[in-house]
Amino acid sequence: MPKGIYQIPYPDNEPINSYAPGRPERESLLAKYEEMYNQDPIDVPMYIGSELVRTDNKKPMSPPHDHKKILGHFNYGDRTHVEAAINAALAAKKQWADLAWEHRASIFLKAADLVAGPYRDKINAATMLAQSKTLFQTEIDAACELIDFLRFNVHYMQEIYSNQPDSSDGVWNRMEYRPLEGFVFAISPFNFTAIAGNLPSSAALMGNTVVWKPAESQMYSAQVIMEVFRESGLPDGVINMITVDGPVAGDVIFKHKDFAGLHFTGSTQVFQHLWKEIGTNIDRYRSYPRIVGETGGKDFIMVHKSAVPAQVATAISRGAFEFQGQKCSAASRAYIPKSMWPAVKEQVVNDVKSFKMGSPGDPSNFITAVIDERAFDKIAGYIDYIKDASDAEILVGGGYDKSKGYFIEPTVVLTTNPKFKTMEEEIFGPVITIYVYEDEEFESTMELLNETSPYALTGSIFSQDRYAIEKATKMLSDAAGNFYINDKPTGAVVNQQPFGGARGSGTNDKAGSQWNLTRWVSMRTIKETFVTPTDYRYPFLG
Ligand code: NAD
Repeated sequence: MPKGIYQIPYPDNEPINSYAPGRPERESLLAKYEEMYNQDPIDVPMYIGSELVRTDNKKPMSPPHDHKKILGHFNYGDRTHVEAAINAALAAKKQWADLAWEHRASIFLKAADLVAGPYRDKINAATMLAQSKTLFQTEIDAACELIDFLRFNVHYMQEIYSNQPDSSDGVWNRMEYRPLEGFVFAISPFNFTAIAGNLPSSAALMGNTVVWKPAESQMYSAQVIMEVFRESGLPDGVINMITVDGPVAGDVIFKHKDFAGLHFTGSTQVFQHLWKEIGTNIDRYRSYPRIVGETGGKDFIMVHKSAVPAQVATAISRGAFEFQGQKCSAASRAYIPKSMWPAVKEQVVNDVKSFKMGSPGDPSNFITAVIDERAFDKIAGYIDYIKDASDAEILVGGGYDKSKGYFIEPTVVLTTNPKFKTMEEEIFGPVITIYVYEDEEFESTMELLNETSPYALTGSIFSQDRYAIEKATKMLSDAAGNFYINDKPTGAVVNQQPFGGARGSGTNDKAGSQWNLTRWVSMRTIKETFVTPTDYRYPFLG
């Protein structure tokens, strides 16, 4: 046990490199991208205990913007690998849970420094190749957000451990933050390398051992995360990465008596399915599993007539289209007053026409490809639906082509129907739908907004009128877990805007805050009495 009450180094948010022309980091990352693009295909194993497991079932990995190029393969497993990963997690549990917290802290602080330094280009280039992120989008995700998660989580752990109850005379009360009994199952989405790293590591930091299943389309960058964890000294079995079909993994894990928690980020539909599975099996478990899920969104921009049109237009251009709208927080519906619409429309249409689309290896491209063919077909289906609709029109964009990569033009849709399909459903692509309202219908339009979609993840109000800002903040209080005033609804930063939404958007446990970490511990209260009574009679008995 520690022989000191240690203070961890207080973290700052990782500075973001700009990658502007002439900056050394630009040349360095582009060179790494080229090197990794051209290297011999790699073979990504599963990491189960001390084993690097390979199978005969190899699945190819390709850049979304260049899908005929094979970057390598990952090894697909079956239920025996899921069982092995659970066994490895359970075998590693006692030693890991008993390890003094400062050593757990050191491992993840070291991981943060590895990403910030020697692995920065590698994890960024891997994310450009795997998820088709531009230089800047990969920097804010794979480098900075992952580093921030790792460093701030250690800080939150110390805050949580320091949170101790009062003690009365003759008594010392203590709170022990035990890891959960059993193992945690982490399931991550394709769209953020940082989330993929955070879901298993946040639970592991608190003393849990983990079975982690990344998204198949993110395997190329997920593997770099495992390399970093291993180099940082994470013991075998603490995080076990498996590449197995989701339902196959779920079928084994959700029936296991030691299943102790689910750390999920992904779509609402999958999360609701998993919650039902857990509910069906509830009598099998040793404890009630912790269920944490951050899921989909239908994120809005609400505009008051006092707003500045150029600010609104820029928020739409960045908020809806960066990373092809594949952020859970991406703006996908906007409500704009009629008097302002001509000015906003002109700038947004001009912005979109000026976007260059292509490979992230060419840094002048603002738009790259969507993640895979399934996503491409789904988004293209929405665009076809809009083209056929009588109550909506495409103002700019609407084209798509998957011959070389999964490219979808950024698309701005205008609808006269505030309940139009694309005002309600998450598309998860570069499509925003706009509803223009009468200037004097600000309040009733917000009522409409509030009841239009099952989600409540992020949203913005744009206004220069403080009364209107206050009104929107109150009226939309349940419409978003992350609410922005005069800013786009994307780009949450760890320790600054703890992230998560309610309603259909998730359990709102706020990734990037200590609230999330409290889900991975089960507290034990300890009361110690110094002079213990030896006579049952109380004074009042006379
Ligand atoms: P997805 O739901 O398709 O997949 C997420 C993960 O679940 C993947 O690893 C997938 O393989 C796995 N999975 C799918 N079916 C499963 C099953 N039956 N059993 C076990 N695992 C299963 O999501 P995605 O396409 O990877 O990511 C996009 C979604 O994630 C969007 O809906 C987006 O809004 C959401 N998202 C939310 C947040 C947030 O913080 N709220 C952040 C990022 C992404």
